[in-house]
Amino acid sequence: MVESYLFQINNRIRSLEELKGRIKLTKEEEEAFKKVSKVYPFAITPHYLSLMERDEPNDPIRLMVIPKREELNPEVQRGGEEDPFKEEGDIPHMTHRYPDRLLIRVSNFCPVYCRYCMRKRIFKGKEGAISYKELKRILDYLKRREEVREVILSGGEPFVLSNQKLEFILREIRKIKHVEIIRFSTKMPALAPQRFFDQKLLEILEKYSPIYINTHFNHPREISEQSEEALEKLLRRGIPLNNQAVLLKGINDEPQVQLQLSRKLLKAKVRPYYLFFCDPIKGAMHFRTSLEKGLEILEFMRGKISGLGIPRYALDLPGGKGKVFLSPQNLIKKRGKDYYFKAFNGEVVKVSLQ
Ligand SMILES: *Cc1c(COP(=O)(O)O)cnc(C)c1O
Repeated sequence: MVESYLFQINNRIRSLEELKGRIKLTKEEEEAFKKVSKVYPFAITPHYLSLMERDEPNDPIRLMVIPKREELNPEVQRGGEEDPFKEEGDIPHMTHRYPDRLLIRVSNFCPVYCRYCMRKRIFKGKEGAISYKELKRILDYLKRREEVREVILSGGEPFVLSNQKLEFILREIRKIKHVEIIRFSTKMPALAPQRFFDQKLLEILEKYSPIYINTHFNHPREISEQSEEALEKLLRRGIPLNNQAVLLKGINDEPQVQLQLSRKLLKAKVRPYYLFFCDPIKGAMHFRTSLEKGLEILEFMRGKISGLGIPRYALDLPGGKGKVFLSPQNLIKKRGKDYYFKAFNGEVVKVSLQ
């Protein structure tokens, strides 16, 4: 039963009483829970909860999901916005930022409320799947936009949809010839990996190939044995896996943690794709690090892990201007035709170019 993902969804822990039965909360956490969960609700799957240490307030999984009073502190949240990237446009559930890629939020529901969620605004709204009418409108738009080669299915969480709904969406997209690839963005391999033990779902994903899946692991502790099993099942169906992590203060902003995360991902054959600088989301500003932090981490990783394990450090520009990538500065100075580079071990090396 615990092996079924519906068990995970239907037995989510939502109330303070239930949570207190599972982990030991501090007084402050209990106070914060009462106030904060009225604005930004709390929910967690039994699987994800089982990854937490019972008595450790600084447990990284705990810090990602247990409400904190900072979420409602106007001082701390200054500068944060509900939708800084203007994702919500004229057509609901859709963001068309880059000409060739279209993002659809096929579900407004996620089984776990991560406190740093970039779509924290969704916590407050109506939960559920996209309606048939809304989907139809997006598909009509997609048909007309021949420059779109990739559709990204996101949420909420896309894999909370039934197999039937997912297949319907995939079938409709595949009828549109200019769409070459479909990508899912999901946190399910961390939250309820049992979703991918479902043979029927795996068959559907294989049938509508090429499908890519972007996972969302921020900390090595989120990658459980069940997660690894789920990832393996997806890979066997020919689905390339890439991970998107967010840099979170006090959770994964230690270089060693990112190194361990990348190592664990590579062993599971998941390529670390992005490390995001934490977005300026109202209610999640206390998770932000300095911008330089990510650069320090990448610099640390160089020479300690395969290049396959080093993600791109990305920053989302405000107002929906897209992502930019930041990398440590290796070109130190230039004198005439001489270029001075910093090697991975810190040595300065001169390259003379004609
Ligand atoms: C991030 C994002 C994408 C995909 O960007 P990639 O760099 O291809 O991963 C597409 N659409 C929107 C709206 C996005 O925010």
